[in-house]
Amino acid sequence: MRTEHPHPFQHCPSCGAGDLQWNSSNRFTCPSCGFVFFHNTAAACGAILLYQDRVLLLERANEPAKGMLDFPGGFVDPGESAEQALIREIREEIRLEAQELRYLCSAPNRYHYRGVTYNTCDLVFTGTLTEEPGSLQETEIAGFVLLSRDQVRQQLDRIAFPSLRQAMELFLRGPVSDSTESGSR
Ligand SMILES: [Zn+2]
Repeated sequence: MRTEHPHPFQHCPSCGAGDLQWNSSNRFTCPSCGFVFFHNTAAACGAILLYQDRVLLLERANEPAKGMLDFPGGFVDPGESAEQALIREIREEIRLEAQELRYLCSAPNRYHYRGVTYNTCDLVFTGTLTEEPGSLQETEIAGFVLLSRDQVRQQLDRIAFPSLRQAMELFLRGPVSDSTESGSR
């Protein structure tokens, strides 16, 4: 197991000086040249998607959390809204268009990737599918499962990240009838 660096780099990206001062977990200033950098919280999105009242979860093909269950979703690209990012990620990962996407909640996460820790704010939505996935983005996803709410409850520890577990717990406490109905209430 590789040790995580507390900060993503040790030398100033502007002048190369090696005596960086991290003022907090996400900000440094270079005493040599005055360069300031914010390693800001990144926005990420994910969806709890229902197909015939079962929850779609994806099996991660890569680290971090390889083999664990994840929501369709990913990082919000520059210039995108969370909704646009989510629609794009769902298309990329499961080749489908989700319906009735609605904001559920957000939760903080720490995403470790190749020695860098990214603080994220995960924006979680709910939605529905009219068919189950026929093909997957195999570079990122090893497979999928469709689980009943009870099955999800029993397997919460298979969900990859605390932020997503938290969102799923909130979803599981919510009304059941909301998932398959469409139109006005
Ligand atoms: Zn510098």
